[in-house]
Amino acid sequence: MRDSHGRNINYLRISVTDRCNLRCIYCMPELGVESLKHTDILRFEEILKIVRISETLGINKIRYTGGEPLVMTDIDKLIYETSKLQGINDIAITTNGILLADMASDLKKAGLKRVNVSLDTLDPVKFKNITRLGNLDKVIESIDRCIIIGLKPVKINTVLMRGFNDTEFDDFLDLTREMPVEIRFIELMPIGEGIKIYDKSKLSFMEMLKNHPELIKIEDEKSSTAQLYKLPGAKGKIGFISPVSHKFCSDCNKIRLTSTGTIKPCLHSKEEINLRQYLNNEEMLTNALKQVIFNKPLEHHLEEEKISRSEKTMYQIGG
Ligand code: SAM
Ligand code: SF4
Repeated sequence: MRDSHGRNINYLRISVTDRCNLRCIYCMPELGVESLKHTDILRFEEILKIVRISETLGINKIRYTGGEPLVMTDIDKLIYETSKLQGINDIAITTNGILLADMASDLKKAGLKRVNVSLDTLDPVKFKNITRLGNLDKVIESIDRCIIIGLKPVKINTVLMRGFNDTEFDDFLDLTREMPVEIRFIELMPIGEGIKIYDKSKLSFMEMLKNHPELIKIEDEKSSTAQLYKLPGAKGKIGFISPVSHKFCSDCNKIRLTSTGTIKPCLHSKEEINLRQYLNNEEMLTNALKQVIFNKPLEHHLEEEKISRSEKTMYQIGG
């Protein structure tokens, strides 16, 4: 279905839980995060019902995210049931990769098409500092496993931050020489915990590009969010996702469902509609979804306001 600005909205991102097994510095506070009660989180069948109705409105691409989606019991079942829906032709997950190595084959069998694994550093000590809890080896093992079993493409999400991992840019580029992955450098966004480090850590991709004239722009492949480049002869590629310095709202095709059942038309807007109240009435549920899609805001205002208007943070929305 098209929104009032003529954009075709065909992509639903779903946060299946706000719980996470890591505490990344730009996303979640180290202590004091109160997990939602199970009864406040959408159940498996409720998520499926929303996916099924969204499908009738032209949604054909689903991404399961979190918190950490792989801590959800039955995520494989959810993917399997989603894959049975005729109109859904793309099912992806965004994960921190800690639990993925052991689950990847089953998820692929269930119908998962592709993965984005978040990885901000290749240095084990920095990895501990950024994620506060994680084990880098587990994530690397997961990425290798996904490549071996043929999940395609494997994308790596890397939030580039001055003073944390900007000096590793070349190491990430080197990874793409032999690995068939797409490394997506994501600009830090002033939302949630990201607000606290935004001014000192923000980094625009132009700065990186300026120092790497060897990168070749990939023109023949379209991505609505990323500017794609590659090193000459490399097996992999890189993408820059720059929501602040290179805004892509005019091509945005997404809506977002949070784990509590609210639907957000834009990551950075205040607006959300609680779908839980309509779960027993398909007509009202359909109308609520239509309303959210039609009224999707034209754009965010991060560049001038320097802070997200969203009342929910990244681990509650899923990115
Ligand atoms: N736990 C999963 C993961 O880390 O991949 C999925 C949820 S996480 C919120 C989704 C993505 O949002 C991750 O790639 C993470 O790096 C990114 N993210 C979180 N907070 C961010 C921020 N303030 N700015 C930019 N990206 C952020
Ligand atoms: Fe968890 Fe993902 Fe947020 Fe890190 S970015 S704290 S892994 S939800």
